[in-house]
Amino acid sequence: LPESYYAGLDLGTSGCRLIVIDGNQAVQAEARVIYPEEPSPPAPLPEVEGGKTDLWWAAVQQMLGELPAAIRSNLQGIAVDGTSGTILLTDAAGNPTTPALMYNDARALEQARRIAAIAPRESGAHGASSSLAKLLWLLEHYPDQPHAHALHQADWIAGKLAGQFGFSDENNCLKLGYDPVRRAWPEWVKGLVPERLLPKVYVPGEKIGTGICRAGTTDSIAAFIATGASALGDAVTSLGSTIALKIISDQPIFAPEFGIYSHRLGDKWLAGGASNSGGAVLLQHFSRAALERLTPLLTPETPTGLDYYPLVKPGERFPHADPQLQPRLTPRPADDVPFLQAMLEGMSRIEREGWQRLHELGAPYPQTLRTVGGGSRNPAWMQMRARLIGAPLLASRHDEAAFGAALLALEEGVCNTPLLV
Ligand code: ADP
Repeated sequence: LPESYYAGLDLGTSGCRLIVIDGNQAVQAEARVIYPEEPSPPAPLPEVEGGKTDLWWAAVQQMLGELPAAIRSNLQGIAVDGTSGTILLTDAAGNPTTPALMYNDARALEQARRIAAIAPRESGAHGASSSLAKLLWLLEHYPDQPHAHALHQADWIAGKLAGQFGFSDENNCLKLGYDPVRRAWPEWVKGLVPERLLPKVYVPGEKIGTGICRAGTTDSIAAFIATGASALGDAVTSLGSTIALKIISDQPIFAPEFGIYSHRLGDKWLAGGASNSGGAVLLQHFSRAALERLTPLLTPETPTGLDYYPLVKPGERFPHADPQLQPRLTPRPADDVPFLQAMLEGMSRIEREGWQRLHELGAPYPQTLRTVGGGSRNPAWMQMRARLIGAPLLASRHDEAAFGAALLALEEGVCNTPLLV
């Protein structure tokens, strides 16, 4: 019998990526297409020029087309993740009737104010970057088109692959106002947009129709799944420009004052929050080369005793909700080594407080901890974190969201599979 293969497609911010795995989760093929330009700039008001839908689809076709025939003809599952909050409208056949407003597009300010007036505080649809605010903007600026479906980036690509449109997943739909607790579109959303435009919502990994397509997710959740985190209490820290925490919880946590929200993942929840502290502060004070050079000189087993709270500018949301919180980076030792060490110590404490905050609000304390992002390359920082947080630090299975999407393509719906036992 020929081997079966499962494809994950990741539509990221700078390009897209394909990873194909076999039934044992071993990677069998990979491809990447970098988009010719940076992610499309916010479109000039009010006319066209949004995301490059034709580029996305051409890239996906190219990557699938270049797969070895033996793999392509034995694909048994395919799932797509995309940038969260990127949305477009299409006609019944899936042809775009509007540009795609990208994840970082912030033009829908007035629409966000209208949403804020009626949405519950814990809704994922708040803010100008929510897909609901963008959908309202698109409906107002393209009133006379034959709109049939509101689709996120991943929904649209999956629709092209499935040859049918009008479906999405519980993760992408959070920012469109979907209620993951009741598993339904709330009445207040149906009062804002025609119900017929709202996609049918599937569980990530659930089979769509009769083909090989499975419901996808957002890029950051796919990246979480890719790490191998899968059990209650498995936690992942992203040490990028900011510090973002996510943990698998048996109950959802919504604490808008801390910017904490939860995604549904099958029968469990992915709760998370993000601090404004993080790698961006390091880069204000050190070049990347200096970080590499100084790191081996750090002494994680001998703390500096300094009490820093590194921030690029005043204001913090999580683990402390304080818009006035001042950066604390003094006293400044003359030597760069303790200065860097004190910053990393401060960020490790902020991370620990983050896990404690999530735990206070009902999530487990981390049982295992995986790390992604540029900061994960710093061994001294990892040592400080391991000491402070007291959870075993594990290596990530894979650092590409496309691998997480491939796992969704493999599993028979996350709710009843070993993926999230
Ligand atoms: P993002 O996508 O959020 O901008 P990345 O995951 O690419 O971030 O990570 C970039 C961050 O990694 C930078 O802000 C930088 O401070 C941090 N970083 C890079 N190298 C190191 C290092 N050797 N030690 C600590 N942090 C590092």
